[in-house]
Amino acid sequence: MTERLQKLLSQAGIASRREAETLIVAGRVTINGQVVTELGTKADPATDQIAVDGKPVRPVDAKIYLLLYKPVGYLTTLKDPEGRPIVTDLLKDIATRVYPVGRLDYNTEGLLLLTNDGEWANRLAHPRHEIEKEYLVRVRGKATPDQIKRLAAGVGLEEGRTAPAKVFLSGESDNNSWLSVTIHEGRNRQVRRMCEAVSLAVVRLKRIRYGFLELGDLKPGEYRHLAPAEVERLV
Ligand code: URA
Repeated sequence: MTERLQKLLSQAGIASRREAETLIVAGRVTINGQVVTELGTKADPATDQIAVDGKPVRPVDAKIYLLLYKPVGYLTTLKDPEGRPIVTDLLKDIATRVYPVGRLDYNTEGLLLLTNDGEWANRLAHPRHEIEKEYLVRVRGKATPDQIKRLAAGVGLEEGRTAPAKVFLSGESDNNSWLSVTIHEGRNRQVRRMCEAVSLAVVRLKRIRYGFLELGDLKPGEYRHLAPAEVERLV
């Protein structure tokens, strides 16, 4: 992905952005051997050779953004003292260190974003963005209209009431109901605790949407790279 030259230089620890601008204007910076003095110039750290005073700038790790279908039975932490599988075990051909954006429980499956871009991850997590996360929740027995209404209105949890949620019945069988639950908060085990609070027993929990991003055709354990436009649209 291309970035402004002054940003790349500051990310590489060469100079502050302001100082980098001075270096550029002074004609001391080259991209692929060509002097650039234009401040808006962009370069791709993965493919362009940038130099200052003829010295190559060590490329910073290219930013990487992944959408993974997390299977049940994987942790979203980066290490487990008990040696259980962790989501990054699934990223066989990704050499860069990435970490999950937010969490999904060990027994929750579905859409999980991973990145090495800390700034982007922090922006997504900021409550101001109110990014919607949609879950399909299979619960035991029949979910009553009253239970659905209570979930939607917000339920009292230990640390306070949950914000109103979008909740509807999306399917039913003899033994189970499927609910669609859309929230924008990201409290620990939020959907499970909301269901518990209205006496619904969760049998299966799957995140199917994060903002405008959906799982698409991915199977459990599969992942894809986000397109640059998707990365930008999310924040
Ligand atoms: N809510 C939960 O209870 N668990 C998750 O993993 C995600 C949302």
